[in-house]
Amino acid sequence: MAISFGYGVLAAFFAITAVFASPVALPDVNTSSTQAHTQRDFMINKNTQYSSLGYTWPNNKVTWCLNADKEADYKTVRDIADKSWKKWKDVIGEKSSLKFAPVDDKELECKKYRGKVDMWEITLNYKMHAGSAHSGYMYQDNRLNFDPRPIYSAMDAVVNFAHEMGHAFGLLHTHQRPDAWPSLLKLNCRNLRDYDSLAKKIGKGKVDDICKTLNRRSAAAEGFSAAELLPYSNYMKDTSKEIVQNGDFDWDSIMLYNSEAGAKDGTLALVKENGSKIGINTEVSKGDGKQIENLYPKGK
Ligand SMILES: [Zn+2]
Repeated sequence: MAISFGYGVLAAFFAITAVFASPVALPDVNTSSTQAHTQRDFMINKNTQYSSLGYTWPNNKVTWCLNADKEADYKTVRDIADKSWKKWKDVIGEKSSLKFAPVDDKELECKKYRGKVDMWEITLNYKMHAGSAHSGYMYQDNRLNFDPRPIYSAMDAVVNFAHEMGHAFGLLHTHQRPDAWPSLLKLNCRNLRDYDSLAKKIGKGKVDDICKTLNRRSAAAEGFSAAELLPYSNYMKDTSKEIVQNGDFDWDSIMLYNSEAGAKDGTLALVKENGSKIGINTEVSKGDGKQIENLYPKGK
């Protein structure tokens, strides 16, 4: 969840969004009808030659390390990471070759291994009210900026971390599936916490227009949190194929935002098409697990 938010988050989150926001980097969607109804995918396309998003991890292994100041943080994160991985493992079982492990059982500090081992570098930040991670493996830069406090998104550090792990493995936000808009989802744009400040800057009309036209690209360009909610574009299906979108929409996915994520207190931002609330998913869904099997099949 790159969202959720105090103001401080947005800076960290947009640093990453900026990578996605350039015209070249905006991914298209590869919609395959052949596997409809058996799967619920929304993830990176591992068969693409070039991806602005990310790739699957080499040797099916995600090795993590930690940048932190305090000794206690190493304990905290080890505990959160182990519990989060268990959530995934309980669903995946032995059906996938994916592995997730600390770089060293005792020594978790990143700097010792940097440049020698491919790692997911976790940096703790107690001011973010969020986490932000790339989707999939990037050759140069695999980071998670993570606030371990249970005070945002799912209100649970383990669930929040499990969501970020989903990104690292290569999953995208379920609600950003292009085919879910406008038939299944709706965004109450004016309820977003940064709506008022952006409206002041560029005018209400312009902000409303971004939401009305589901213009994720403009939202990202304006540094607007709606960029984490609005759908990816699918208007150039036949060019690059960076994203896979298959099957039914997965309402149980841990990669789906709840209605209060990013919303002003007491309001709902992302809602079902009929206006009803989307609750918090605290577990990895079967559909999430299936995607991991597809990305990291057993025996490969
Ligand atoms: Zn997320």
